[in-house]
Amino acid sequence: MKMKMSNQCEKCGESIGFKGICYRCRIKNQREAYQAMNSEEVEKMIESIISNIETIGEWDQVYQDFNGLLGYHDINTARIAQAAFDKGIFFPAKLYRDASPEVRDQLLARLFDPACEVAGHLLLCLALQDDEVIKEAFLRLEKNPLPWRNKLYVNPSVYAHHGGWHFDEQGNCNSLYFNRCYTMLPGDGVDQAAKAGQLLEQHCSHCGCQLIDVLRLDGLDERFSFLAVDGVLAIPICPNCIIYTEETFVRYGENGRSVIIPYESSFETKNYCSEADLLEMSRNQLTLSDEPVPKYYASGGDEVITIGGWPDWVQDAQFATCPDCSQTMKFLAALPWNVLLDGSEGTLYIEICTDCRTLCLFHQQT
Ligand SMILES: [Zn+2]
Ligand SMILES: [Zn+2]
Ligand SMILES: [Zn+2]
Repeated sequence: MKMKMSNQCEKCGESIGFKGICYRCRIKNQREAYQAMNSEEVEKMIESIISNIETIGEWDQVYQDFNGLLGYHDINTARIAQAAFDKGIFFPAKLYRDASPEVRDQLLARLFDPACEVAGHLLLCLALQDDEVIKEAFLRLEKNPLPWRNKLYVNPSVYAHHGGWHFDEQGNCNSLYFNRCYTMLPGDGVDQAAKAGQLLEQHCSHCGCQLIDVLRLDGLDERFSFLAVDGVLAIPICPNCIIYTEETFVRYGENGRSVIIPYESSFETKNYCSEADLLEMSRNQLTLSDEPVPKYYASGGDEVITIGGWPDWVQDAQFATCPDCSQTMKFLAALPWNVLLDGSEGTLYIEICTDCRTLCLFHQQT
């Protein structure tokens, strides 16, 4: 249920509870401001991040600028990583994505100290670096844990998931992310390669809510060649139940015909999704970007749908296990609900096993 608000956003006209512009317009403006920066301005901002690196943990300007530059300009973080390391700062781990081999080796040296006090942070920082030396070190630490392992909740292999890779006991590594990333922004709706929030005929067997294809991706479009689907990949969900269900699995075909794998519901499900909500979700003009966007686009600061690339996790990185082949599934797409339905919270994550043509969907929110 949405409350009646008395004011209207000065940009988009949406009803809001205060004078000025709405949250959605504010973060959109912010994204566009970062995107409009030229290389000199980017360079100046990197310098400013470096000189103020000790304030990044305050989640304020430096934090926002770092994410904006990483998400929208795909900056190389090597110098920022050096500055952070010099000050003993290990959060956010993304600072270390492009760390130099020297910084990497110093992080590893600290990690291999049996009395290391910041092992969890170091594992995250290292996991973000795509590097053979780190992969070997993680495998070694998984097999021969150091005393600090008792203070962590999970093994190094789970930290590796944050960095986008999975390894097994034999040391075989595979990537959990697609390198190519696209976004969907409001457009004219002419480009039909990707569609979000289409209403379906069927209704949910648990709550009775009308189902939607939360995404429909045209696998024949060159931009989705990485999906290896010879037709439309449809992703149906119950927009009501998805929020209360831990994981929902979907089997997809190549003709746009996908089925939600039946599951038992552990509680009685009420439908909180109104007719008006469904209409709003289906009435968007979101259009796939012509060109790929940076891999970390989702963490730039705006709420946007991303397909491929790296998600911005609301909570911890979460990777489902394929029910057919038991492999760790790969991240496919993330959809902040607020994009489809104004005022809603949380993000839908979609993962895929292209071998078994299976999807896993789950919801995270703060
Ligand atoms: Zn607005
Ligand atoms: Zn339902
Ligand atoms: Zn599988």
